Amino acid sequence: MISIIAPVYNEEKVLPELYRRIVAVMVSADEPWELLLINDGSKDQSAEVIAQLHNQDNRVRGLSFSRNFGFQEAVTAGLDYARGDAVVLTDADLQDPPELIPEMIAKWREGYDVVYGVRSVREGETWFKKMTAKAFYRLIHRITSVNIPLDTGDFRLMDRRVVDAIRGMRERNRFLRGMVPWVGFKQIGVPYVRQARYAGTSKFESVGQMLPFAINAITSFSYLPLRLATYLGFIVASLSAVAIVLVVLIRLMTPSVALEGQATTLTMVLFLGGIQLICLGIIGEYLGRIYDEVKGRPLYLIDQTWGIEAVRRPSYHDD
Ligand code: UDP
Ligand code: MG
Repeated sequence: MISIIAPVYNEEKVLPELYRRIVAVMVSADEPWELLLINDGSKDQSAEVIAQLHNQDNRVRGLSFSRNFGFQEAVTAGLDYARGDAVVLTDADLQDPPELIPEMIAKWREGYDVVYGVRSVREGETWFKKMTAKAFYRLIHRITSVNIPLDTGDFRLMDRRVVDAIRGMRERNRFLRGMVPWVGFKQIGVPYVRQARYAGTSKFESVGQMLPFAINAITSFSYLPLRLATYLGFIVASLSAVAIVLVVLIRLMTPSVALEGQATTLTMVLFLGGIQLICLGIIGEYLGRIYDEVKGRPLYLIDQTWGIEAVRRPSYHDD
């Protein structure tokens, strides 16, 4: 069976169309399937729409979080409750065309464990979003030790053994686009055109929404910021060593008080203060992540389910 997982946050207008397109695709692909909708604390009627879809077709299953936990957590819950031999992750807004799923299944049957969609073209997105996304994928590809493929979102098919491996990774502040390549196995990309949203608006459009995502991605898979802080320290220390010698020489070799102090001292204090704060911030970023891990809270809380047995619960590290 193929499980299709879609995280849902305020997507009431999209869900019936998502269901329609998935039914059409899966009927022509002639595969048994289920559609797992994870309602991530939507404020609109998404929950009611999921309930209604489940009532008319029990291949649609779903659950509601107790509040908005975020995209990564919603996908995690999907992986926890999916029953398929392969799992397809897709956005609910139809930016990832369901019509690509048969092609993914074909590659899976050929023996690939992960088939990820590569965004060859992006439609209906702002110039700013396209540019920042492009830069982001290249940066993350360069600085991480995991081989994160370029221009690849979360639209992908995963074999059961990959899903089980990911389910065992209960880390907080998750970045699935890095966790899946980390797992390994045989992975391959298929190109697709990322379409415009069917309805509604994007939840990751402004700098304020994208920056935390980018910082999380970088700190999840790279120590580069910490290393940069170290390098910065060495550079500043070497420059200071030179400057100190110069200051001493100038002081000794000029008769009068050549170094008029105030301005120079202030500049140096402010400069060093800034550098130190930046480095502290970088350490703090990683410290905060450790704090989140240590608290060991569940990744999400479930309020309501449709067609999901209450007994089946994810395996947390501590039980
Ligand atoms: N989403 C979610 N929780 C959130 C934000 C988004 O489950 O807190 C879902 C959303 O419903 C959609 C998917 O994640 O199915 C991608 O979000 P969106 O389309 O807004 O992002 P974009 O495609 O513009 O990056
Ligand atoms: Mg979208």
